[in-house]
Amino acid sequence: MKNEIVKPDLPDYHIHTPLCGHAEGDVHEYKTAARSRGVTSLCFTDHAPTPDGYDPAHRMTMDQFPLYKSMVSETQTAEPPLVLFGIEADYYEGCENHLRSWLPEQNFDFVIGSVHFIDGWGFDNPSQRHVWDSVDVTGSWRRYFCLLKMLVDSGLFDAVGHFDLPKKFGYRPEKGDLREMALPVLDRMAELGIGLEINTSGLRKPVKECYPSAEILSWSFERCIPICFGSDAHKPQEIGFGFDLALDLALEAGYSHHFTSERRVKELKRLAA
Ligand code: ZN
Ligand code: FE
Ligand code: FE
Ligand code: ZN
Repeated sequence: MKNEIVKPDLPDYHIHTPLCGHAEGDVHEYKTAARSRGVTSLCFTDHAPTPDGYDPAHRMTMDQFPLYKSMVSETQTAEPPLVLFGIEADYYEGCENHLRSWLPEQNFDFVIGSVHFIDGWGFDNPSQRHVWDSVDVTGSWRRYFCLLKMLVDSGLFDAVGHFDLPKKFGYRPEKGDLREMALPVLDRMAELGIGLEINTSGLRKPVKECYPSAEILSWSFERCIPICFGSDAHKPQEIGFGFDLALDLALEAGYSHHFTSERRVKELKRLAA
């Protein structure tokens, strides 16, 4: 990966740690990388543990959560950049039972809600990519957006992560179908004040573009949905990855502000053009 210069003055609100089992580098290295790459603040958002056996392969255990909390707090020194404490929690049917009480107890600054499975199929997992060739692509997207709508309706999350993740390997619905599926979700996000993440990890994947697409971002702008930026870093050198492109995407969609979040309260900040 080339070590491109990132535009300054943007926070990175989607960062993992090795506790998830598929990331590398310690939290101090992530902070050092953020400083050297012009990222103004960072929010660790590792994959949330689950108490019910949901996808244990990609996350810390409930027992490891206190360690996660202490690792992040070790980096919360007076030295910039500012470090925030967050989580990327999966939405799946039944998750509410646990999350409704657990999330508010953790003093998070920011909670991303993500869907990584369609009825047990890890549709964005490279080892399950072949499944795309045998399913109804549009039907799968429809089911994904149905889950995303439930995620938003739950009111448990501050922002939606990688909104159009099913495009990762290039399998897409027709444009008109995408619009019909995405708009009800965006409408509900606007109603509830839920943010949208511009996630640059797609630039590192076969689809080679950010999540969401320029088109979805323009629908989001029309609805005044606040945006934030996330690299979805699983290595220190991925911090702030592609933020120059992400900023251009936001400005082209019409955005003049992004949000920051502390103690789960959003504040709008002007984007540096
Ligand atoms: Zn991950
Ligand atoms: Fe994710
Ligand atoms: Fe992530
Ligand atoms: Zn992610």
